[in-house]
Amino acid sequence: MRVRNRQNRRWITGVFAVVISVVVVLFTRSVSDFNDGQVCKELAAVDALIPPVRSYDFDSSAWNTLEAPVFELDSNLNDEAYRIVSDENGITVFHGAVGDHRAQSTLGQLGMLGNEVALPWGEISDEPVFAHRGVLMDVCRHFFTVDEVKRQLDIMALYKFNVLHWHLTEDQGWRIAMDAYPKLAEVAAYRSHGDSVYGGFYTREDLEEVVAYAADYGIEVVPEIELPGHSQAVLAAYPHLGCSGESVAVATEWGVFKDIYCAGNEQTFEFLEDVLDYVCEIFPSKYIHIGGDEAPKYRWEHCPKCQQRIKEEDLRDEEALQGWFNTRIEDYLTAKGKQIIGWDEILEGGLSPNATVQSWRGFEGAQHAAEQGHDAIVSPTSHAYFDYPVSSIDVPKVYDFNLYPEKLDRFTHGHHIIGGECNLWSERIPDIETLDRRFLPRGISMAEVLWSHPAERDYDAFWQRLQLHYPMLDALGYSYDVEQVPVKLGTKNDSFKEELKVFVTAEPAFANLELAVEAPTGMTMGSATIFTERGMHQMKVQPNRGGHAMGKVLNYGFAVHEGLVTHSCLTSPPTEPYKGSKDIPLANGVLGSENYRDGNWVGYFGPDYFSGHFGWDKPYIIDSVKINFLQSRLSWILIPEKVITDVYESEDQISRYEWERTSSASEEGTFIETMVLAPEGGFPATQTIDFMIPNTEVLPDNHPSAGERVWHFLDEVQIYGRPL
Ligand SMILES: [Zn+2]
Repeated sequence: MRVRNRQNRRWITGVFAVVISVVVVLFTRSVSDFNDGQVCKELAAVDALIPPVRSYDFDSSAWNTLEAPVFELDSNLNDEAYRIVSDENGITVFHGAVGDHRAQSTLGQLGMLGNEVALPWGEISDEPVFAHRGVLMDVCRHFFTVDEVKRQLDIMALYKFNVLHWHLTEDQGWRIAMDAYPKLAEVAAYRSHGDSVYGGFYTREDLEEVVAYAADYGIEVVPEIELPGHSQAVLAAYPHLGCSGESVAVATEWGVFKDIYCAGNEQTFEFLEDVLDYVCEIFPSKYIHIGGDEAPKYRWEHCPKCQQRIKEEDLRDEEALQGWFNTRIEDYLTAKGKQIIGWDEILEGGLSPNATVQSWRGFEGAQHAAEQGHDAIVSPTSHAYFDYPVSSIDVPKVYDFNLYPEKLDRFTHGHHIIGGECNLWSERIPDIETLDRRFLPRGISMAEVLWSHPAERDYDAFWQRLQLHYPMLDALGYSYDVEQVPVKLGTKNDSFKEELKVFVTAEPAFANLELAVEAPTGMTMGSATIFTERGMHQMKVQPNRGGHAMGKVLNYGFAVHEGLVTHSCLTSPPTEPYKGSKDIPLANGVLGSENYRDGNWVGYFGPDYFSGHFGWDKPYIIDSVKINFLQSRLSWILIPEKVITDVYESEDQISRYEWERTSSASEEGTFIETMVLAPEGGFPATQTIDFMIPNTEVLPDNHPSAGERVWHFLDEVQIYGRPL
């Protein structure tokens, strides 16, 4: 048995100052000074741990300070299991191979959560439910320095995560410098950014420093080398590795790109093997993540070398070619003693024998992998994509995450679900403060989900404990976001008095929240802001608690118009889940933001048309009709080619108006275009307007997913005019 006596480190060093100062006070007392009040305090600290320990049993006969616990390896314990024993010998930690690190986290939290840092005699016994508790950090879309990565490891360790899934290569940047391939650092690591360049890379020393730092926490770093897709940055440096051989630029937009490694070119494999040799020298992890997601087959379909490979290897099609590609890489890595992880797309081309599947498009990937005898990591977009805003995935949603796919026979295959990850894709995470806010407090919720059994979870109890962790995060210097969207918004326009009332209230979970409302064109009365002027309006709400901003400013858009007093309905259903915020989503006065998941957009995915109907009790003179459409090309959302509006003068006299888009389907980025229909001389007086939006277009040839159907998104049909 190995006996160690180590110091608490890093985030615990801050605590240590606290520990020492308290210890001085405690040592001036004798054990007889011990009273029940103190036991209660320590039990309270144990009760506040996240994730909670599996069990503890204390008696109140005596206590020990947390100082200098003795660590003893106990080979009978599972790797991550530990027992903290407090008795007449002081505090002893018995632990499995890496259980000492988890015990350190428990002691670290106790040190920060308790006022009087002492542990009653008794025992804490603990181990996790899931073996793989990961955080994906994407340093490609935005670059993070070694110190910033270490800072993320600090907070991961405190909450007992044990895997850093380090996403190191992408279309927008390659982050591993290699002497053998100097252009990786010179070219592939940087993309153009306006008049300048953006990027960065890690040297071998940088990578080794991170690996060693993580190892000190018992955290394994799993590098992800994306292949065959998401590889445009490499092709910018070494175009001969692509199918066309033509030069491309490091990608500047987010999305999926059709330039991928050529599967028919032996030089591709020479390059990848060199990279993997290098990566395996640096990363001692059991796994190498090879990506495998979002690899468009367009180039392979049109490449003689790839087609030749399909023929030679007697493969069914390009999907099977990707399966062959993966297996070839896996064989290479197996020979080096590594196992592969791939995104759930790797199931499609036939799974290589020892692959672990990371399920992201839902739970099906995990289910199918487990049923085929493969291990699976579950990180679905529904619960684990922390790059999504809190309005899409909030803390209760994360807490509700059940890793086991519903249809999986847990008795037979459940053991293949080895864990989950929170995915911090960094398209919209440009800096460390945003990274904090995306990770916290949702990551704390995930930490508990991955450590404990679903049956042991209780959200209300978790929420109470979580409140005690904010002062700790403040002390450690981490930013955090709100747990849920803190503001409830209601609109009212039923007794239309040429005004739209907007009620802004705090969610019940945020009862002690002060809301700072800024609405330049509105009138605030109590909890309501009233807009009377026709047209579009903006409102900003900043939630504060105790003078402390809770999350960022929330922006809302509204419109006051005659459409609010219509009888309106949708005459064709929108496509789930983009059904808008209300029963009458296109006539509620609420406008959408550039986030198409904000709940205010109505989405329609072809192939026919989307339509709606508006009617008044009396005739109206209409001056104009305005509709906002969203375009987010790489999310397959295009502004419709045309909108048809029928204005009924009477049942059989209909005037038809058509509007055609002014922007191009190829225009990049995310933006909103407002369609304005305002015919010269105005519309005829009417009681009825219908609109129809044909959706027959497909994504254009220059799109990475050319030929696929498109989405149309609209937020409101604004109708401006007055009664006849
Ligand atoms: Zn090719």
